[in-house]
Amino acid sequence: MSIDFSVRRSKLVDMLKELGYIRSFKVERAMLAVPRELFVPDDVREYAYDDRPLPIGYGQTISAPSIVAHMTELLDPKPGDKVLEIGTGSGYQAAILAEIVGPEGCVWSIERIPELAELAMRNLGRTGYLGRVRVVVGDGSLGYKPEAPYDRIMVTAAAPRIPEPLIEQLKPGGRLVAPVGPLPFQVLLVVDKKEDGSIEVRRDLEVVFVPLIGEYGWRDEREALAQLTEKGVII
Ligand code: SAH
Repeated sequence: MSIDFSVRRSKLVDMLKELGYIRSFKVERAMLAVPRELFVPDDVREYAYDDRPLPIGYGQTISAPSIVAHMTELLDPKPGDKVLEIGTGSGYQAAILAEIVGPEGCVWSIERIPELAELAMRNLGRTGYLGRVRVVVGDGSLGYKPEAPYDRIMVTAAAPRIPEPLIEQLKPGGRLVAPVGPLPFQVLLVVDKKEDGSIEVRRDLEVVFVPLIGEYGWRDEREALAQLTEKGVII
């Protein structure tokens, strides 16, 4: 029997509205428009509309829909914005951002693992978002200078601190949302760059993300995981 994903999608969106993760019409519309089932691997497709992260290969995960919705609300992108995402993964979050920035806007998304960048491009291609999303393979902790500055920057991997180049590449009046702090738990930070260039940081929810590996992230997987075992977390 075939699964009616669109029914599941609208039920999930109703639930996320009730729980307060979806608070604006633009995020609701984007979450209804993007087919999450086409961004997850075949073997977990039936769970596409459960509110939980799912494995996408290479030890990485697509975030839970509630986190995607909440981070998009915090970021508050506008039609026409130029957005930078760090950690393309499946491409799902990039597609949500692309829905909101619209045809006048653009999303640049940086992925460290070439195979995932390819997967994301396939997913974005078959769902029609490739024109509005550009995927680049590289170390996103350095940002992406050729297209800077950005109206909005979203980091979807856990950084030990806010990567300095990202602050530099943010427009005055721009906003960055990133999970920051040691593993396993980070805090979502909302960083506003004022018109005069000063920075304001607000702490939001506690979250769990895979590590940002790079020059302004963790040095490698070993370093990121080492501090888990230091804390007595069994992995
Ligand atoms: N936003 C994704 C999920 C992100 S999972 C989605 O919607 O599916 C985090 C991703 O960040 C992983 O794919 C991981 O490979 C990537 N990543 C980790 N460190 C990175 C870095 N320095 N630069 C770019 N991508 C990185």
